[in-house]
Amino acid sequence: MATNESISIFSSASLAVEYVDSLLPENPLQEPFKNAWNYMLNNYTKFQIATWGSLIVHEVLYFLFCLPGFLFQFIPYMKKYKIQKDKPETWENQWKCFKVLLFNHFCIQLPLICGTYYFTEYFSIPYDWETMPRWYMLLARCFGCAVIEDTWHYFLHRLLHHKRIYKYIHKIHHEFQAPFGMEAEYAHPLETIILGTGFFIGIMLLCDHVILLWAWVTVRLIETIDVHSGYDIPLNPLNLIPFYAGSRHHDFHHMNFIGNYASTFTWWDRIFGTDSQFNAYNEKMKKVEKKSE
Ligand SMILES: [Zn+2]
Ligand SMILES: [Zn+2]
Repeated sequence: MATNESISIFSSASLAVEYVDSLLPENPLQEPFKNAWNYMLNNYTKFQIATWGSLIVHEVLYFLFCLPGFLFQFIPYMKKYKIQKDKPETWENQWKCFKVLLFNHFCIQLPLICGTYYFTEYFSIPYDWETMPRWYMLLARCFGCAVIEDTWHYFLHRLLHHKRIYKYIHKIHHEFQAPFGMEAEYAHPLETIILGTGFFIGIMLLCDHVILLWAWVTVRLIETIDVHSGYDIPLNPLNLIPFYAGSRHHDFHHMNFIGNYASTFTWWDRIFGTDSQFNAYNEKMKKVEKKSE
């Protein structure tokens, strides 16, 4: 009964979204995007698209999304939005982080990316323009991937903090107490594999077109670089997403090495009470702010 009800709620919701979509004006970028997509299909093999295409998408987006946070350190006006003001970014840390990132990206992630082509072939995942899902279906599937990744991340990340194993793997990610965007993927190779698995579970379950791989990479990178940015920017549109954890949530985790284990949403930390120290800290800060007014 409950399953039938949820199916009917889901189909009504998708009908409503389809209706809204039909009212929207034609996307002016659709035609150039279609041409570019078809050009790619006509000039490159599926292996090249899945492997080198995915590598390029990941590298370009990673450093592009890190760029605003990187530039903020040179803009005095942005200092007031830095969460841990007493720990500014240093060249030494950023350079060290950059070198480890390149190693992780090309020696750990690239071999994994090479599996993309075989995955799409095995599950007959299409590449063509005609079967590409509409933007709202992509968004819904990315949300599904985020919920799955967040759940995986919460439990495995919490496990990596266990006192018996913390120093062997996860300690590397916690090397910088005040995080900065580039640190998002600064981790021990084993952590890249363990926590990275959460990224692929959603893909395995929900992928219906190769574009979902790149859409989900985009969403995941925006999220993880935002929460590691070290800045809490007012009017950040990501903070409008219900239950979105945000930069203060993860910054607290890096500052204190405890609590706030989830990557994207706040519900697991709420359910297990692992956000209690974060909440107490926020209450304390509010009182301090009131007194100073
Ligand atoms: Zn982190
Ligand atoms: Zn941690």
